[in-house]
Amino acid sequence: MNTESFNLDHRAVAAPYVRIADTKRLSDTVVVKKYDVRFCQPNVDHLESDVMHSLEHTFSEAVRNHSDDVIDFSPMGCQTGFYFILAGEHPLEDVRDLIAAGMQDVVDATEVPASNIQQCGWAANHTLSGAQDAARTFLARRDEWSQVMA
Ligand SMILES: [Zn+2]
Repeated sequence: MNTESFNLDHRAVAAPYVRIADTKRLSDTVVVKKYDVRFCQPNVDHLESDVMHSLEHTFSEAVRNHSDDVIDFSPMGCQTGFYFILAGEHPLEDVRDLIAAGMQDVVDATEVPASNIQQCGWAANHTLSGAQDAARTFLARRDEWSQVMA
């Protein structure tokens, strides 16, 4: 299929993990990579909408303090994880370290950034504590992030 993740057997993976989902070489010097940041085992578990939303806001804002190469961090529709898009070539372990740094910032956050009606499209749909619990659980299994397949 056209979409890379539709060719991934979701029964065969072992969440949590971080893997490269796509690479686009735009020129000899410019590359963009998309990472699959999977929190939950597909078809077994998922994150609630408000947890996804607050993780998106808080991580998106925090991770940019650690890297200028961040293009996007956005929720998967199945609510089992996120897509993370970075410019440039980075060793996958460095990307995992970057994600860990951003998730630690979520754990340490005192508010969900931009969770108001001026800056967000559904400002009532947030939970800082829910996002922090999910980030804490994800971080606690950091040693499993490099194993994608069960
Ligand atoms: Zn929002």
